[in-house]
Formats: sequence, structure tokens, C-alpha cells
Amino acid sequence: MKNILFVSGEGLPFIKSGGLADVIGSLPEALTKQGLGAAVVLPMYKKIIEKYPDLKEECTIRVKSGIIDKQSVVYSGKVENVDFYFIRQDDYFYRDGLYGYADDGERFAFFCHAVLDMLPHIKFKPDVIHTNDWHTGMVPILCKQEYTDASYKKYKHVYTIHNLLFQGNFPKETMRCFNLSDHYYNNGDIKFDNGISFMKAGIIYADKVTTVSQTYAKEILTSEYGERMEKVLAEKGNNLVGIVNGIDVVNWNPATDPALYKNYTTTDIRNKKACKRSLQYQLGLRVADDVLLIGIVTRLTWQKGMHLILDKLSNIMNQDVQLVILGSGDNYIENELKKIESTYPHRAVFYCGYNEELSHRIYAGCDLFLMPSLFEPCGISQLISMRYGTIPLVRETGGLKDTVKPFNEYDGTGTGFSFRYFKGDEMMHILAYAIKVYYYNKPGWRKLIRQAMTLDVSWDNSAREYKNLYESM
Ligand code: ADP
Repeated sequence: MKNILFVSGEGLPFIKSGGLADVIGSLPEALTKQGLGAAVVLPMYKKIIEKYPDLKEECTIRVKSGIIDKQSVVYSGKVENVDFYFIRQDDYFYRDGLYGYADDGERFAFFCHAVLDMLPHIKFKPDVIHTNDWHTGMVPILCKQEYTDASYKKYKHVYTIHNLLFQGNFPKETMRCFNLSDHYYNNGDIKFDNGISFMKAGIIYADKVTTVSQTYAKEILTSEYGERMEKVLAEKGNNLVGIVNGIDVVNWNPATDPALYKNYTTTDIRNKKACKRSLQYQLGLRVADDVLLIGIVTRLTWQKGMHLILDKLSNIMNQDVQLVILGSGDNYIENELKKIESTYPHRAVFYCGYNEELSHRIYAGCDLFLMPSLFEPCGISQLISMRYGTIPLVRETGGLKDTVKPFNEYDGTGTGFSFRYFKGDEMMHILAYAIKVYYYNKPGWRKLIRQAMTLDVSWDNSAREYKNLYESM
């Protein structure tokens, strides 16, 4: 049996800012069902300290992160079959947010070192170290080049790119937070422009690189999607693979979800209507069954196609629809969206912020889920919305292309709607079609709901693929 240690900047149930946390909160558990051992290590942020006061103190370690020399306390906890470890260093992680600080390079250089320093002291003995996104990208190179003790040579490294846009690129001076010689900068392994890139190091030094859908794995080899890493990625050859994400189908289950006004199942979706009415009531929308309610839950960024939505907002609202948007992010987008309630009273609402419970109620209460991403490594939201019978309308990119099968009116197949080119008119064209199906082809819409809800969005298949990958190493 192989043991896999996931190293991540966030993970449910402890801390979440986006889809990475969903993956870390569910893939390790799914692997244990495949007979593997799994553990997770996270930074111990302020929110974790406040919300989980009973975590167990494991040990104190001394971490030398280049010129930085600090202590760190390792905590642990268990969630189902998965051990969680936490690196506590309050100078770095006792803050309100997770990332986006001026010293992020130093913070995560420290975290990467602390994870490796922790290994000899904990019960869990990994065979594979599975790092994720830029925050942990330096672990493979450190393990291979900085930690010279023989015990570090036995580990295999998998590195998963959840979003190539965020690369952890820092000024060259960040090299002072590593005990690596300048050789690794001068030979280009971690050099990117005139600074260093944590993600580039992860790609080069991991034995296997994965990303979260097959289409994204191909897209990132092109200059359009490669974020200037396409050549480095191409060099991985067959060691770059795409494995689509699943979701935690126990937590995301309309039949049992405690956040919903009423629960419903695939065989009896009547209560989905009650969820819709309760959502409309809660948000001040006109309470009505017979109007198409469109939902959006997202980071408000260009990546998620929010500019398409803003451009076409009046066209969208010219249709017989209601709109609810939950999200936070870009100031410009937030400010534009704040106007929609007064422009379209009782027809459109914007909840600015992060709200887990409301997100569940939107996934359940809406009819259509809009996700016109410019690019989408995998996307979790469309998987959740399908599970809740809320039909996704997506752009055909990355994981959206791999997971949402467009509705075919003639044979009745499909689980959503999709359009190809990132253009407002294309989105509107397919939205008009979805609206037509909703109002004039009720049996077709019911079929869509049934097919979306019964689609297997669990981790079962993908966990098996990860298992094969680990075992091939
Ligand atoms: P990302 O690129 O942000 O990781 P994903 O679709 O992969 O996009 O995952 C987003 C996850 O974060 C989903 O679980 C979604 O429900 C959640 N989420 C995004 N924004 C919010 C918000 N404002 N409030 C609650 N949950 C949110």
C-alpha cells in the first residue's frame, strides 16, 4: 500500500478560498477508499486556530529557510480516514487572509521547508509527496537538491496544476529564503523573467505533473493557454497528464444537504421548486416558479467570464429571467454588479462576499448555472450545479468541456449547454436557446435535470486514475 502526502495552501474542511480546497478536502479520502494511505499538510492560518482549538500539538521543529531561522509547531487532526497536519508559524500565517501578502514568497518558502523538516517527526510515512499549485511548488526541488540526507531520496513527487495563471513568481531576492545555490537560478530551472517561479520549479522537479482535466492538459501546451510555461510543460512529455476532478458527493448531496430549505432526490425533484421559492424570498426576488432563475457563484475575475456577463447584462435581463450572483474579487466587477439590484428590482441580486451556506442554496434553488469562463482548468461549480439539477451553461474550455455534455434536442442526451468562442454574442445565442428549452420544452428540461443529477461526478473514477499514477512511479 502506498502512502500519499498532500501538501497544499488550503483544504476543506479547515480552510477554503476556491476549488483547490474542494479537491484537498475530498481526493485524499477517496484514495483511502482505493486502499491507499493519505494525509494532508496545510499552513495553520488564523481561521484554523480560531475554529479548531482542539488540534493536537505534535512536535516543535526548527526550520532553516535560507537566511530565515524560526521555530514551527506541528499540529495534527483527523478527518475520517485522513490525517491532517498543520504548520504553525504565527509570523507568517496568523493573518486574516490566505495569500496576497507582500511576503508571500518568504511565507511559502518557509512552509515548503517546514513540511520537509516535519517528515522525520510524524507518524505518517509517505511514499509520494503530492504538491499543489504555486504555494508548494518548491517542495520537489528542495527535497531533491537541498535536503541531502538519504532519507529524503526515497520520495516520489507528483505536482498538480490547479490553475496555471497563478505561478508564484517572485523577485530574485527571494532566493535568500532557500539554501539553494545560484546554480539553480543560473541554469534556468527556477528563473522566470528576472525573478524566480515556484510553479516552474514544481513542473521541472516533480516526477509527474498532473492537471485537473484532459482538455486543460492539452490547452496549456499552447501559447494561448500556456501562460508562458508551455515550453517547460512540453518537456514533461508523457509525464504530464490530465485527470478530471470529482466532488465530495456526501457533502454535496441535495438529498441530505442541511443548508437547503427542503431536500430532494433524483427521483423526486418537487422540493427543488421549494428551494427556488425560498431562495427568491430570502434574496428579495419576485417569488415565482415559472421564471428561469440563473445563478452564478464565483470569484469575480476576468477568467470566469465576468466581463462577458457585464457586457451583456442588459441583454440577459431583457429576457424573462431572474439573476442571482454570489461572489467577490475584482473591484471594478464588484462595483458594476452592485448596481444591478436598483436597475432590475426584484429580478436581479448581487451578494458581495464569500458565503458557503448561500452557495448551497443557490446551487439548489436556481434553474440554470452560468459559467462562461475564458479558461477553466477543471471547475468545481459546474459539477456541483449538475449534482443539484441546476443546468450549467458553460464555455467549451478545459474541464468545462470535459464534464458538461451539451443538450441534444433530437436524442435528448446531455447535461447542460455550451458555446465555443469567448464572445458575448455566442453566449447570448446559447442562452436564448436554453431559455427556449426551459419555457417551451418542459419534458426536455426535466430530462436535462435527471441526466445532470445522475451524472457520476464523484471521485471514484479519478481516484482510480491517481492510484494507477502513484503505482506506476
Ligand atoms: P476556482 O477557480 O475559484 O477554484 P472552481 O469552480 O474550481 O473555481 O471552485 C470554486 C469553488 O469555490 C466552488 O466550490 C464554489 O462553490 C466556491 N465559491 C466560489 N466563490 C464563492 C463564494 N463567493 N461563496 C461561496 N463559495 C464560493
